[in-house]
Amino acid sequence: MNEIIPVTKSYLPDKEKFKSYIDKIYESGWLTNNGPLLKELEDRLKNYLGVRNIILVANGSLALQVAYKALNLKGEVITTPFSFVATTSTLAWDGLKPVFADIDPDTFNLDPENIEPLITEKTSAILPVHVFGNPCEVEKIEEISRKHNLKVIYDGAHAFGVKYKDKSIFNYGDISTLSFHATKLFHTIEGGAIITNDDDIADKVRLLVNFGISGPDKIDGLGTNAKMNEFEAAMGLCVLDDIEDIINERKKVFERYFKGLNGIVKFQTFNSYALKNYSYAAVLFKDEADLLKAKNKLNKKNIFPRRYFYPSLDKLDYIDSEQKSLISRNISERILCLPLFTALGNDLQEDVINNIKDSLW
Ligand SMILES: *Cc1c(COP(=O)(O)O)cnc(C)c1O
Repeated sequence: MNEIIPVTKSYLPDKEKFKSYIDKIYESGWLTNNGPLLKELEDRLKNYLGVRNIILVANGSLALQVAYKALNLKGEVITTPFSFVATTSTLAWDGLKPVFADIDPDTFNLDPENIEPLITEKTSAILPVHVFGNPCEVEKIEEISRKHNLKVIYDGAHAFGVKYKDKSIFNYGDISTLSFHATKLFHTIEGGAIITNDDDIADKVRLLVNFGISGPDKIDGLGTNAKMNEFEAAMGLCVLDDIEDIINERKKVFERYFKGLNGIVKFQTFNSYALKNYSYAAVLFKDEADLLKAKNKLNKKNIFPRRYFYPSLDKLDYIDSEQKSLISRNISERILCLPLFTALGNDLQEDVINNIKDSLW
């Protein structure tokens, strides 16, 4: 029996390099609160991604919550039912009502055609997700948001480094949020970021993430604690050094899956103006029965793909959604994310491919 193969393994950079950053933290005694490593990482990410303002935060969920406050969202937010639960749960946590616009069955992204019929006088924003790093139809969404005077926040948790028409995808919308959780393509153990082209929004975000404190003995309104610490920034600096290699390795793995399985299962249709970041290897089965056959066969071989995203978020009990997103429900029943990480060897990957093929004969 082979070792356990999970859907992903966190990338661990060179230990000595990480230790040298830890030594710096011990020397400075500066553990958190806008420290030197955090500032260095913000600068480097700003350049690497090609964005105007980036504020690092404690995780991707807080990035979303701070974004809602920074844009003063109220009432209803039109969003996608096909995402990680945090896209919707953060709205509910902040007393905002998620209104689900169904997805495109090929791109897995929110279909812009479904937005306008859901707009009411209570709608304050649109919250799409670049699912598995696949850019949304940003121009169409921008047109709708202008026409109806709505804010746009992109949950870009999967889209690290993705370029659309040669520019960072994070240049679209009022705010883009990122997650740097250990399982994501680029990570800081736990972490996230808020990106915006608007300097006023950026200033507001910097207050919101630090209790609203604007100076010694000065509090400028409501805030929370969403700060990233120096140890997390140190991990980020090390992972960022290796990010091109990480993406190249993942590309190789992804392409082997595509070669071995395309036609047997279906792959996501990717935006033709963008380059992939290989953050996920999602495959679509003919039906849920086929998916379960493949999953059970893989599980018996100690291989553990994950059902991302399942269930469709319009089925959450605590939301009580008026919309039934039939396409999202159908996709979520048939989709499986296969193991994808840099250390996945060729032989193990052949095992994954062959077991899926065998399960479907
Ligand atoms: C991971 C993820 C989040 C949440 O990020 P955390 O850092 O885990 O809080 C939000 N949205 C999407 C789409 C995600 O994949």
